[in-house]
Amino acid sequence: MRPRNEYAEPYRIKMVEPIKMTTREERTRKIQEAGYNVFSLRGEDVYIDLLTDSGTPAMSDTQWAALMRGDEAYAGSKSFYRFRDVVRNITGYEYVIPAHQGRGAEHVIMTALVKEGDAILGNMHFDTTMGHILLRGAEPVNLLRQEGYKIESSEPFKGNIDLEALERELEERGPEKVPFVLITVTCNSNGGQPVSMGNIREASRIAHKHNVPLFFDCARFAENSWFIKNREPGYEKKSLLEIAQEMFSYGDGCIMSAKKDALVNIGGFAAMRDDNIYRKAIEWEIPFEGYLTYGGLAGRDLEAMAQGLSEVLDDDYLEDRIGQVAYLADLLLARGVPVITPSGGHGVYIDAKAVLPHIPQPQFPAQALTVELYVEGGVRGVELGACTFARTDPATGETIYPELELVRLAIPRRVYTDRHMLCVARAFEGILERRSSIRGLRITYEAPVLRHFTAEFERV
Ligand SMILES: *Cc1c(COP(=O)(O)O)cnc(C)c1O
Repeated sequence: MRPRNEYAEPYRIKMVEPIKMTTREERTRKIQEAGYNVFSLRGEDVYIDLLTDSGTPAMSDTQWAALMRGDEAYAGSKSFYRFRDVVRNITGYEYVIPAHQGRGAEHVIMTALVKEGDAILGNMHFDTTMGHILLRGAEPVNLLRQEGYKIESSEPFKGNIDLEALERELEERGPEKVPFVLITVTCNSNGGQPVSMGNIREASRIAHKHNVPLFFDCARFAENSWFIKNREPGYEKKSLLEIAQEMFSYGDGCIMSAKKDALVNIGGFAAMRDDNIYRKAIEWEIPFEGYLTYGGLAGRDLEAMAQGLSEVLDDDYLEDRIGQVAYLADLLLARGVPVITPSGGHGVYIDAKAVLPHIPQPQFPAQALTVELYVEGGVRGVELGACTFARTDPATGETIYPELELVRLAIPRRVYTDRHMLCVARAFEGILERRSSIRGLRITYEAPVLRHFTAEFERV
């Protein structure tokens, strides 16, 4: 990767959206009113919003122009065929089913293919994916290699699946219990970490040896392709499109949240080679998502997705994008803020236990750091720690805490400049100076499931 100061953003700004600057006093009040939960803040009270990279990109001028071509025919819209052809060209998959977002595609595919008692083997399932597998009465099985769980590492492909474990699981369970293997690229749940082509090729060989199809959860396939080109020997000279095509060639289908690498605010799809799988899927597409040529989207959304997918496999864009994530990680490391290394494709993950070692895990150190980041700099990140992941052991009634307390700063695509990243890093300077006085939090309200979205806290 070129040093960040040797080039500038490969785009210029044609339209601006003002963002509000607030005072520390205002932020202190707003976060208290929000029950110390950043999900309950109004977006307009946030200065730099790094809550998610999902559905938050800036569309290009060409995407905005494409919206005007949207053909809103209920059936057989021109926009659908344009979109289908772009997906076919990248994936090589014959059948393409649009969906309103990634989880819509998951819903259709899981309902069509997964039955009670099945297992879906993968590197590490994203949370909605895991939810859909559980809703079918099946078991989500994560087979990420141990490297992928380390905070500090020099391993270039921390998203790789453990091939021996995959082989063993397939042998033990048998193909009738494993409807497909699902590889997530990049691996969202451990920090947007890439999966190597070599690992994908082998996983495909093993799955196919057992007559089990391989699918991709490919929300960030373009970012993964960039990592392969820049980190995996033999791919330096290939185009990003060739790399993506090779990757998909090892699989039998995919599900995608277009809110990531299709550079749109809403959308998704599933695609596959096999017409039997397609026939099963469309039985559920129509009742869940809509008719086959719109799948929960307007014709104009299909146009924006088609255009975004045609733009994203661009070396300059991806170097700038992934370079900005690495830049923020470097700024934080230089200030003594411990982050997961190497940084992944879409965000920086901060080790909150190391920043606030005096706050015990039952007092939510990562949530406390998320709150302080907002108070200090108007920056919104998200907690990935005890609030999101702690579970109650049904046998003993005791709380089982997750190993890590992380704060994720996810970077929207083409939205913020490097000066925004500097502001984020400066907010951490302020936090580090007064860290010993930062207090933990106590929950005052929680919902029975997915409590992190609506939990309320008070300061200890
Ligand atoms: C975002 C995401 C999903 C779910 O997609 P939505 O568009 O949010 O419904 C599924 N898998 C991965 C890997 C994701 O990043």
